[in-house]
Amino acid sequence: MMNCDDSRIYLPAYLDDELDVAESLRVQKHLAECGDCRRVQDQQVVLRAALRDPGLRAHPSAEFAKRLETALRKAAKEEARSQRPSWFESSWTFRWVPAAVALIVVAAIGALLVVNRLGSSHQQLIASAVLAGHIRSLQPGHLIDVPSSDRHTVKPWFQGKLDFSPPVPDLSALGWNLVGGRLDYADGRPVAVLVYQRRLHDINVFLWPNHGSADDAIREESAQGYQILHWNGAETTYWVVSDLNKVELLDLARALRGH
Ligand SMILES: [Zn+2]
Repeated sequence: MMNCDDSRIYLPAYLDDELDVAESLRVQKHLAECGDCRRVQDQQVVLRAALRDPGLRAHPSAEFAKRLETALRKAAKEEARSQRPSWFESSWTFRWVPAAVALIVVAAIGALLVVNRLGSSHQQLIASAVLAGHIRSLQPGHLIDVPSSDRHTVKPWFQGKLDFSPPVPDLSALGWNLVGGRLDYADGRPVAVLVYQRRLHDINVFLWPNHGSADDAIREESAQGYQILHWNGAETTYWVVSDLNKVELLDLARALRGH
């Protein structure tokens, strides 16, 4: 069941309505039972409402607004007739909201493409979940819960948060820098994520216990610029997601398998 630590991690996404139904229900259930977490929720709701105060919004200087206005007039003469004092705010909204929606649609289509190319439907669901988890982790502040390059810090951090102890190998000698760990959700359960970096690429390694047989080969997929590698080890199921090139990512997968 969800504990307070998990609930605090999921709370911002819960309030933003970013969780799937199962995750959302788990948070709701915990909030119903836990007064401490409800108080944290109340505080966050109040803070969010305060941040939406229009008084906090930055308004452009008259000179800056005028320069933009002139540029816009030149670009589209018909806009000149509908200039209003609040035009800056409304045009900002109209320009960026569709862009954000388009990004979400692209991410969703990417997840569907993976669904169509992987074998079993169970694996399709997991591939969608780990790809969505990876994309979500790229948002500011979402990548790492425990920032550390030391496996002796990262491994104990998972204790009490998961019902298994994930292997956290030190692969720095092979050029794979551990930068931290995170809790995520896939295959209907909380899972561990190890975050490695190579150059500027983040690599998410999702892992959880494997109760079935081990695989001989690593399965490969790509969607939307991301590589997805998957295999079942003797004890652990691995899903590796990154925008790093496939050749290097396979090196990491072999290092994790060999460990
Ligand atoms: Zn709680």
